Amino acid sequence: MLNVEVYKVGPLETNCYLLQDMKTNKCAIVDPGGISSKLDKRIDQIGKENFEYILITHGHFDHIRKAEHYGKRTGARIAIGSKEKEFTKDRSLNLAERSSPKFFKEFEPDVLLEDGSTIKLGEIEVKVMHTPGHTIGGVVFLVDDMVFTGDTLMRGTIGNVGFKTGNMAEMLLSLRKLYSLKGDYIIYPGHGDVSNLNYEKQNNLYFRKASK
Ligand SMILES: [Zn+2]
Repeated sequence: MLNVEVYKVGPLETNCYLLQDMKTNKCAIVDPGGISSKLDKRIDQIGKENFEYILITHGHFDHIRKAEHYGKRTGARIAIGSKEKEFTKDRSLNLAERSSPKFFKEFEPDVLLEDGSTIKLGEIEVKVMHTPGHTIGGVVFLVDDMVFTGDTLMRGTIGNVGFKTGNMAEMLLSLRKLYSLKGDYIIYPGHGDVSNLNYEKQNNLYFRKASK
């Protein structure tokens, strides 16, 4: 069973998630865009040796800024979509230059994720789905009936497609893939409140448009 905790990090209140396999204690951190003292406490509690991955939904600075910090602190490997590799170095791509360049330090990811690949977290399987649109190599992470959507799909809305590598046509195709998931899913977005697939099907205009 997967335990999920959310920590709001950084000036843009990014949702940073702690994923923990309750059976084996193995953990991952999703989108550490900033430092959280509460998360730090939890890492010490759980034991840093149990942290296996830093999972990145996409390479914007508010999602990756402290990836290397938490990677080093725990020994976890940093995983990002293969088409997003340059975002960990390029301040123009990751938007750090227009936001807070002095707080961003470039880094090398350890694992490049492809569409359909899976990651093992203890006994839990994390599936990777490539969802370009907000950025070219953005991914979402699926675990059981949960999906960590980053800035692709958020409660009642979607991420901005106006940044470098953003593309509305690709976004609609990505939303369509999410729309086609069978059954309901809890949506853990990159910003804002938790949602679910059924709510979005009824209330999210972009999501509805993507299904047509
Ligand atoms: Zn973003």
